[in-house]
Amino acid sequence: MYRMHTDALVVGSGIAGLTSALILADAGLEVLLLTSGDDLDDGNSALAQGGIVFRGEEDSPQLLERDILTCGWRYNSVRAVRYLARRGPQVVQEILLDRLHLPFDRKNDDTGYHLGREGGHSVPRILHMADYTGRGIMEGLMAAVRACPSIKILARRTAVDLLTSHHHATLLEFKYQLADQCLGAYVLNEISGEVETILADFTVLATGGCGRLFLHTSNTRSCIGSALAMASRAFAKVMNVEYIQFHPTTLFHRAERRLLITEALRGEGARLVNASGEPFMQRYDPRADLAPRDIVTRAILAEMLKTEQDCVYLDVANYVKDLEKHFPTVYQGCLDLGIDITRTAIPVVPAAHYFCGGVLTDNAGRTTLDRLYAAGECACTGLHGANRLASTSTLECLLWGYSAGHDIARRAGKKSASLSRRLLDSIPDWVSPGCNRNEDPALIAQDWATIRNTMWNYVGINRSSSRLKRAFEDLRELNKHLHDFYRETPLSKAIVDLFHGCQAAYTITIAAMQNRRSLGCHNRLD
Ligand SMILES: Cc1cc2nc3c(=O)[nH]c(=O)nc-3n(C[C@H](O)[C@H](O)[C@H](O)COP(=O)(O)OP(=O)(O)OC[C@H]3O[C@@H](n4cnc5c(N)ncnc54)[C@H](O)[C@@H]3O)c2cc1C
Repeated sequence: MYRMHTDALVVGSGIAGLTSALILADAGLEVLLLTSGDDLDDGNSALAQGGIVFRGEEDSPQLLERDILTCGWRYNSVRAVRYLARRGPQVVQEILLDRLHLPFDRKNDDTGYHLGREGGHSVPRILHMADYTGRGIMEGLMAAVRACPSIKILARRTAVDLLTSHHHATLLEFKYQLADQCLGAYVLNEISGEVETILADFTVLATGGCGRLFLHTSNTRSCIGSALAMASRAFAKVMNVEYIQFHPTTLFHRAERRLLITEALRGEGARLVNASGEPFMQRYDPRADLAPRDIVTRAILAEMLKTEQDCVYLDVANYVKDLEKHFPTVYQGCLDLGIDITRTAIPVVPAAHYFCGGVLTDNAGRTTLDRLYAAGECACTGLHGANRLASTSTLECLLWGYSAGHDIARRAGKKSASLSRRLLDSIPDWVSPGCNRNEDPALIAQDWATIRNTMWNYVGINRSSSRLKRAFEDLRELNKHLHDFYRETPLSKAIVDLFHGCQAAYTITIAAMQNRRSLGCHNRLD
């Protein structure tokens, strides 16, 4: 059985996880970096198109703060918003520009960066590399992380459960201590099939979002809310989990993951039109095509209902020039599916896109469970409130990954930082459950279909008491069933993912039921 102890365990290798690993290694800590994918870039980070918030020419921290608060319906943590508005651009400068020298697009006359603008932003302030910004940032961070000898990368490892002194220590003296603490995680090694015990003085959750819980989504496979499931089981506080942002414009096509049609296109002038070719957004909001995402999403649904069509269209051909050059991802992605966007309007529908809530943290990334941190999309820093402002999430990943890294480094320098040998020795290795049942792919596929359809239809863009009650009952039943199954079946990645996904879906549904007030991207019909 593989068992080890490290200074810091980072679970997840998107922008948040890589940034925290880098800062921890800078401080001289031994870091274990896990990804459940084959490589570091399997999460949503590599898909980010629009870019990362920086500072505009006519910009100020106060203006950025105001835009974030307006978009979040003032349900944000002012402390977190202020922190990002002031500190965020400085960290972009320090890490992405001065350290990694990333080639963000510059103006034609080379007098500075070409800054993009998206819905909800008062000024252009978004750094980008054409429309493959996430890929560009990930390439830079991955190269830096791979060059650090003190970061050990473990791929195809899925965290199963967080280890805590209250839940796992076998010696009573640790259970009687008032404060619980995180001691690392049990991790499934997909290659050997074994569950490994990874003990860590500090653990950072950076597992990304939960879009895959919904039938239609822009997210990658890994986004199933596993941090939400693990943190809830360990009794760390989670918050705002009912606030799921639906992106208004993803390609309407038969594909497992919906291609995102970036909002930056509307920032450049593209317009949403209905099946008759009529622009309709000004009928729903004075900000028209650049209204915040929750408003545009609901307007599209209303227009689809009114026109009895399965989608609306984004007219880029008549409004945006040089599409091949400035939006190569969208251009090529559509062309691969037979749509030439320089000639035809793009058929679009909303899809689950971003998780505004998650594991509650402060500005240093600390959670309510000692020694556990969270950063990136799996965290609820309070930045987004009831809805996220476009392109603030990559900056949140960078800033909170950075802040968590620095906070741990500060604590690691203190005498009390290392966990005692006695406590570590009292953590047992994973005991394999019975082998009574075999994993049946048909059952797993059906359970996922249940979760994703339930979440889309009952816990989706428009929610009501009766829909949520139905979702609650169905997911409670499935959760109970999976719990029994989990206890009797040898672990595999498919089973762990299903278990995490079902628990995350159930937690989101309960939060949506309890919150009767429509706000931002939580929309109640009753
Ligand atoms: C199509 C698309 C376009 C976007 N465009 C933008 C944009 O332009 N600007 C912007 O600000 N935001 C954008 N976003 C959102 C942004 O990309 C994400 O919020 C952000 O990248 C999330 O980064 P992360 O580090 O939190 O997680 P991710 O990058 O999703 O990484 C999660 C990591 O966790 C790992 N993982 C998950 N579960 C486990 C587990 N149990 N054990 C071990 N590892 C695990 C995965 O393998 C993965 O490595 C976009 C999102 C999408 C989907």
